[in-house]
Amino acid sequence: MGSSRPLRVAFYTFGCKVNLFESEQLKKSLQNIEIVDSSADADIYIVNGCTVTAASDSQARNMIRRFAKKGKVIVTGCYARKKDLFLEKIKNVEFIPEIEDVARNLESKLIYDAFFDRSRPFLKIQTGCDQFCSYCIIPFVRGPLKSVPLDKIIKLLEKIRSQNFKEVVLTGIHIGKYGLDLDDGSNLSSVIEQAHRIVGRVRLGSLESHEITLEILEQASQNKILPHWHIPLQHGSDTVLKRMKRPYTALQYRNSVEKIIKVTPPHTGFGTDIIAGFPGETEAEFTESYNFIKSLPFCYGHVFPFSPREGTLAWEMEKTDGVKPEIKKERAAILRQLFAEKHSGFRNSIKGTELTAIIENEIEKDLYSATTENYLSIEIKGKYSPKELVSVKI
Ligand code: SF4
Repeated sequence: MGSSRPLRVAFYTFGCKVNLFESEQLKKSLQNIEIVDSSADADIYIVNGCTVTAASDSQARNMIRRFAKKGKVIVTGCYARKKDLFLEKIKNVEFIPEIEDVARNLESKLIYDAFFDRSRPFLKIQTGCDQFCSYCIIPFVRGPLKSVPLDKIIKLLEKIRSQNFKEVVLTGIHIGKYGLDLDDGSNLSSVIEQAHRIVGRVRLGSLESHEITLEILEQASQNKILPHWHIPLQHGSDTVLKRMKRPYTALQYRNSVEKIIKVTPPHTGFGTDIIAGFPGETEAEFTESYNFIKSLPFCYGHVFPFSPREGTLAWEMEKTDGVKPEIKKERAAILRQLFAEKHSGFRNSIKGTELTAIIENEIEKDLYSATTENYLSIEIKGKYSPKELVSVKI
């Protein structure tokens, strides 16, 4: 380093909550630097990129090119773990996949003692996945399961409480597998228990349907988990689920949702992820999936037209059995419409219900955005401050 002023470093983050968390962790770890906005002039631009779809790749690539005209670029995260030969040839672009190594490169040491401090902080409890769903690049770029030891999580939960946060969001790449790589017997329920004891409100990130254990259901029945469940379905037809190498059937998925419904309040929000146009998806399979989704009480769904990722099994399937792009697009639009109807139906169904919410930001004078316990985004008039826990009648 050696310059008289600190290095000016700008961050640009794409992708999931884990990437957001890791960028924050890196920001707080770097010594002798000044963090500047990514629109300002910086000495180094750190791009934490995502590679989950072809669209995320191209967004990351565009941003890297743009920053490379202004200064040195360090590319990290999932996007950096796959090779991009074109960008690697640009002189001032360096690929450093692991954030620990980015910190070392900038003469600092990565600390875990940081969280993404919005009104509802994200806490990363693990990374990695070993499920290898046939369409997914994540196990290749994120590697095997790696859980954060429970004692470290407890320290961070205490820090979150000491800063007066009322809610914590437990995130990771595959949180249902938390603890499987540790030898102390801890699992996701152990983290939920501690998070509830220390912070109070606990929101779970995405959780696979087959990993909702009796212990987790018991905790849900005791209100230790907020009534919001994001359970990726991906498809509602068993034949497609099998090709996707998802380890459950549609019926098993439904059973998991019904078990949650039995122990949680009527305003519980269910969300999911769906892929439209997976290789070989017939009209009949699509209709089966549509009807299955329609029959479940989802209040929102993220729909992704299938995007083949090189190196996965489905990349090969797409070559021989790919669904035409216009059909993928059309099916994705039909599903998005279905989720939009479900979302407004859900909002109407809970009119008049008293819910708790966390205040997020002031939108304009005396008008705030807030997130309810069941994950609705709402606006509240009055005088509040971010992080505040309030009761609202919807
Ligand atoms: S569970 Fe499947 S979809 Fe989720 S990260 Fe692992 S491989 Fe990808």
